[in-house]
Amino acid sequence: MSNNELYDLVIIGGGPGGLSAGIYAMRAAMKTVLVEKGIPGGQVNLSDEVENYPGFIHTSGAELSMKFAEHARSYGLEELNEEVTAVEPGLKYHTIRLASGQSLITHSVILSTGGSPRKLDIPGEDEYYGKGVSYCAVCDGFFFRGKEVIVVGGGDSACEEALYLAKLAAKVYIVHRRDALRASMISQQRVEADCNIEVLWNSVVTEIKAGAEGVDQVTLQDTQTQEHRQMSIDGVFIFIGFVPNNELVPAGTRLNADGFVITDEKCETNTAGIFAVGDVRERYARQIVLAAGDGALAALAAAHYVESRKAQGADEACALPAGFLDD
Ligand code: NAP
Repeated sequence: MSNNELYDLVIIGGGPGGLSAGIYAMRAAMKTVLVEKGIPGGQVNLSDEVENYPGFIHTSGAELSMKFAEHARSYGLEELNEEVTAVEPGLKYHTIRLASGQSLITHSVILSTGGSPRKLDIPGEDEYYGKGVSYCAVCDGFFFRGKEVIVVGGGDSACEEALYLAKLAAKVYIVHRRDALRASMISQQRVEADCNIEVLWNSVVTEIKAGAEGVDQVTLQDTQTQEHRQMSIDGVFIFIGFVPNNELVPAGTRLNADGFVITDEKCETNTAGIFAVGDVRERYARQIVLAAGDGALAALAAAHYVESRKAQGADEACALPAGFLDD
């Protein structure tokens, strides 16, 4: 990879939004690089079953990710397996700092950095992570074959992961803080129909305890009576939503109260030439198809933005300063 050139577009994050942006950017003949510190697909790789991406009646997150990546690569998308440490907006160009110490400069940036699991922030959660506490049923479910587990949460993630675990575990308890699930009706019906799943309504986990073999007990609190009780359990899977990975969002770029990036209808932030797509962006729902749609839209808008800048002579205006890449 040569980085002593000015890119039209740097995409940060290789999930559905980033890869879709890559496809559209390459088709728009933009000089583009996608920077991803992990493997293509991001969080989608953790979904065992995907049944609502149009054109795929049934697939897995990993398979879909692979197809997105193959599609983007078929257009020759440049990829960089590196960690971005900072995005520094500039009037002439934006600078992307990499953990290796190198930098990229670009007219436009698409932030596709996704989100991470929200934590309960209770005693034992961090301490016993990997010893019975998990945020991924597909990754860790195997270790709980024939055992009893709790799934915390009442949304689609909690229900889908509980259904996955119910095929392996002896018993799955969904612990939900209210008396009604938030999940879509189809997920609720599947949970109801699964005799291996029991919902513990109006309950929260307030502490996770472990013995020598890992997690063995939780403290539950009734949200109506406030009463506490102990429950023996082998594992605790937590699916209570997620928080945006907004660490790279430059200062001055607007975020909402929950930390999601505020954009306009073109996915552009209030910082010119910086776009945000997928789960890091403030939006009504978070779905693979919506992230992919964002990526397409942002790339088209970025192409228009870059063309306008070039028409104004931005390329000549941003000749690189001598020694730029040495810092
Ligand atoms: P979510 O819809 O935000 O649900 C989070 C759940 O966790 C809610 O039931 C919430 O309770 C509960 N919760 C939040 N904080 C809690 C706390 N501190 N203690 C106990 N419970 C807590 O999150 P999600 O399930 O991860 O889904 C995120 C988005 O992705 C949604 O739009 C969802 O539809 C979508 N999704 C779709 C699919 C699919 O279509 N196949 C699969 C997964 C996710 P309350 O209900 O009381 O707020």
